[in-house]
Amino acid sequence: MVNSRIIKQRESLPIFHFRQEIIDAIKNENLLVIIGETGSGKTTQIPQYILESFEDCRLIGVTQPRRIAAITVANRVSEEHGTRLGSEVGYCIRFDDCTSAKTRLKYMTDGVLLREATLDPKLEHYDVIIIDEAHERTLETDVLFGLLKETHRLRPELKILVMSATLNVEKFSDFFNECPIFSIPGRTYEVAINHHRDAKIISLKSTYVQRAVDTTLYIHTHEPPGDILVFLTGQNEIEKSCRDLDNQARELNYRRDVQYYDEVRNLIVFPIYASLETMEQKAIFEDPPEGTRKVVFATNIAQTSVTIPGIKYVIDSGYVKQKSYDPSTGMDALLVVPISQAAATQRAGRAGRTAPGKAFRLYSRESFEQLEVDTVPEIQRSSLLGTVLSLKKMGIRDILHFEFIDPPDPMLVKNALKQLFLLEAIDEQGMLTPLGDEMCIFPLNPFLSRVLIASARQFGCSREVSTIVAMLSVEEIFITPRDEERLFEADERRKVFYHSSGDYMTLLQVFEGYRDSGYDRDWCRDRYLNHRALSMAKNVRDQLRELMERHGVSIISCRQKDNQDGDHRKKRSKQTYYETKKYDFTKILEAFSTSYFIHLAKRHPHRSVFYHYASANIHTSEMIDSNSSLLALHISPLSALHPENKIVKVDSLDWVIYHSILYTSKALMKVVSKVKLEWIEEKLKLFKKLETVDLGVDDNKKDKQEKEVDDESVDSIGKESNYIDEEE
Ligand code: ADP
Ligand code: MG
Repeated sequence: MVNSRIIKQRESLPIFHFRQEIIDAIKNENLLVIIGETGSGKTTQIPQYILESFEDCRLIGVTQPRRIAAITVANRVSEEHGTRLGSEVGYCIRFDDCTSAKTRLKYMTDGVLLREATLDPKLEHYDVIIIDEAHERTLETDVLFGLLKETHRLRPELKILVMSATLNVEKFSDFFNECPIFSIPGRTYEVAINHHRDAKIISLKSTYVQRAVDTTLYIHTHEPPGDILVFLTGQNEIEKSCRDLDNQARELNYRRDVQYYDEVRNLIVFPIYASLETMEQKAIFEDPPEGTRKVVFATNIAQTSVTIPGIKYVIDSGYVKQKSYDPSTGMDALLVVPISQAAATQRAGRAGRTAPGKAFRLYSRESFEQLEVDTVPEIQRSSLLGTVLSLKKMGIRDILHFEFIDPPDPMLVKNALKQLFLLEAIDEQGMLTPLGDEMCIFPLNPFLSRVLIASARQFGCSREVSTIVAMLSVEEIFITPRDEERLFEADERRKVFYHSSGDYMTLLQVFEGYRDSGYDRDWCRDRYLNHRALSMAKNVRDQLRELMERHGVSIISCRQKDNQDGDHRKKRSKQTYYETKKYDFTKILEAFSTSYFIHLAKRHPHRSVFYHYASANIHTSEMIDSNSSLLALHISPLSALHPENKIVKVDSLDWVIYHSILYTSKALMKVVSKVKLEWIEEKLKLFKKLETVDLGVDDNKKDKQEKEVDDESVDSIGKESNYIDEEE
């Protein structure tokens, strides 16, 4: 049963007064844009209004840009609706489907709907599709816009709603045949903006965390009651700020320092970033206890997707962690970058939802004026590899002229085509190959789909590779504790799993240890392994194998028959306990090389740094010595192959493949494995071939100008120190 408190809450939302008007508008229009201030109730209420008043509506799909938002919103709405999560109201994110035959309202990531649209462009299961948080302009949302326009032509009776905060809405309406815009009236209150007197945003980068904590303390000691929301960029920063604030608040002399002592004696501090634990703290959404001030340190998730009530003060660091295309790898990197003016305005607005508020920007007014006016849509700054493959799968040949709301940079499209050619997913004319078609079976990055198929068809090791691919599809497996002593211990415990060929095999050994423990939580904790990530990996592996079985991709093991488990474990030392001879691991590495030859790196002849093969085409050591402007790649300290781990001698490493690059003060290769050039030589010819094919785009010739732009951005990414450690 739904309790009366929830009914009251629902009825107190600004949107409630317009319930009937909204229902009527949706009845009358099949294309509709709905805008309203963040927190007015769009995400949680409008789908319920439809559910309650369109009785014969079979299924409503609502997209969210963030996985975590899809889960939390579905949770909240099923509670409001008085049903169990996964029955009438459910959610679906990649590898985690919490819906059933009963489900009529499905919250999902935009990526999930995009995949569904690839397989069924008419979206036959749905009667209503809602693209929510459209203003976020994620890559997937933008591609969905293009696809839905076609779906509308095929199935005009499908109701398509676009919901957005109050940003750039004409653009959405113009794109969807100038459809009507329903604007939810809602008042917002004055927010007084305080800029920092002289802080330039550029020089702020290393200090904004400390400043944010100082400013929080200032507000707590000088300003009237009201909760504080602080915008930072990621988990580490947020956790550090929570600790620092707690410590510093303890040292205050409350009676003397805190001006509003009678009303707000205490501080209660919350972190919120993209992890379920932080979102599950119900207290974040509730009023703090009498006499207490609530402080929330948040990522961008609190800018528009999640509304925390009671906020009167906003502190804006001016930074965000953002997906950015890295031309040196052709992949996305997460970089901490300054926000746009539009984002700064949104952030400040969070202080004026229910009463006048104040925003403290940790940067100067001049810095604000120098910010970009709008955030660049993701489609213009991300790798389009997966997107282009999906569009090809749907038979859309001319990607450059697909109907995008804002077209991507042609360079990004061409780079994606080139990578797909190297993966042999498309042919010289840019047509999908049978292999490319098969790669679409898996909800994985095309690199990994390619590896999985090769492991089944060519190398006979798909059982092991499916495990490793699953391990690569979840969050970080190794826990890095913060205090020195435990950090040392964690490093020692990790060594047990290291494999001398590198990290793909290491990941397999970690998983097998986990399996042998009976999937035990304590076993993980003792070894500084992330249990949640590992149990997710098990789940992903099972789902991948199910897909393989269903699509005739055989599951074969490269376990060597005559070796019984255990007998052949090399007990040379405790440290390599897990390393066994039981697998023909070169097969596994060869399978990974079918994609990751694109990430081939050669070691400097005298040092332990590496250089990309592909960007430099390095054949001889002389070239390396004379060309020091190349991006130097280092092995991540977490890797089995890192020199300090002493698993292998650095001079035995000539060629490695890496999985991804993490930019800290250096460019770190993550998940690195040793390879032999002879496995790859044949493949490297594809790079040469690239120069002669057009991939279905006429102007594919590398012109000089484009190359210069490339090189410039390699430099700026490589040299700048960006503090990135985890996903937002
Ligand atoms: P919008 O989509 O217009 O930004 P939402 O529908 O997300 O608005 O939120 C409406 C209200 O519901 C907000 O005021 C928010 O505080 C509240 N709310 C949202 N999620 C939760 C939750 N998990 N627990 C409690 N309250 C919530
Ligand atoms: Mg919303």
